[in-house]
Amino acid sequence: MKIYIVTDLEGISGVDSIDMIKVDHPRHRFAIERLMADTNAAIDGAFLGGASMVTVNDGHGGGNNFDLSLLDPRAVFDTRENKNSHLDDSYAGTFFIGTHAMAGTINAFLDHTQSSASWFNYWVNGRRCGEMAQWAISSAYYDVPVLMVSGDETACAEARSFFNPVACAAVKYANGRNHALCYDLKESEDSIREAARSGMALIGQVKPFKPLLPMEIKLELYRSDYCDELASLPDVERLDARTIRKVVNSYQDVLFG
Ligand SMILES: [Zn+2]
Repeated sequence: MKIYIVTDLEGISGVDSIDMIKVDHPRHRFAIERLMADTNAAIDGAFLGGASMVTVNDGHGGGNNFDLSLLDPRAVFDTRENKNSHLDDSYAGTFFIGTHAMAGTINAFLDHTQSSASWFNYWVNGRRCGEMAQWAISSAYYDVPVLMVSGDETACAEARSFFNPVACAAVKYANGRNHALCYDLKESEDSIREAARSGMALIGQVKPFKPLLPMEIKLELYRSDYCDELASLPDVERLDARTIRKVVNSYQDVLFG
């Protein structure tokens, strides 16, 4: 049973302020160490749950976050560009480690969908979605289900609202958007390991996340000028100053651009 793990940074244990996400901040190094610790806990849980192979993808902000010297050597590091899904139908499931709630979620640590600067709302078939659902939909193209996520409390609540059943590990809760109260680091690793292990038991029970096709994708941006370029893409319709829409026939086309 092959497992594909994609990672983000906002929902990692011990990451409690927006500053830690910035590469030039003194506490950024600690955020990276925690990213590796959470990822390794998930890898360990996957193997404990019967995985034969675990692939990891450094997903935050285009990659280059991992300290590979800290990565569990049993895992295969996916060196390909992280923009697109690199799954294939040989994988039995996927985990999303360090994820965050969709843009517009209250008391969610660094809630956003793709771009904090320009994306305001994003819908699939009329349902507001975030990055978790986007990852799940692109994984569904290969019939791969989401088995497990880790992040703050709102990320876990969002995962349950989309993928139930799904194994979740909450590592903190946010008070406001830019600060989080983190749970004990060792306990967080333990809960990630346990959720990963129990997520493996969902293989065969949980289905890939497949909205009805054709699928309507709608995106509302913050400003009309952010919309101009996207609105000129083929098959994209502009609904109003800030909102665009497209109808797609493949789960691979879940994103704009
Ligand atoms: Zn991120």
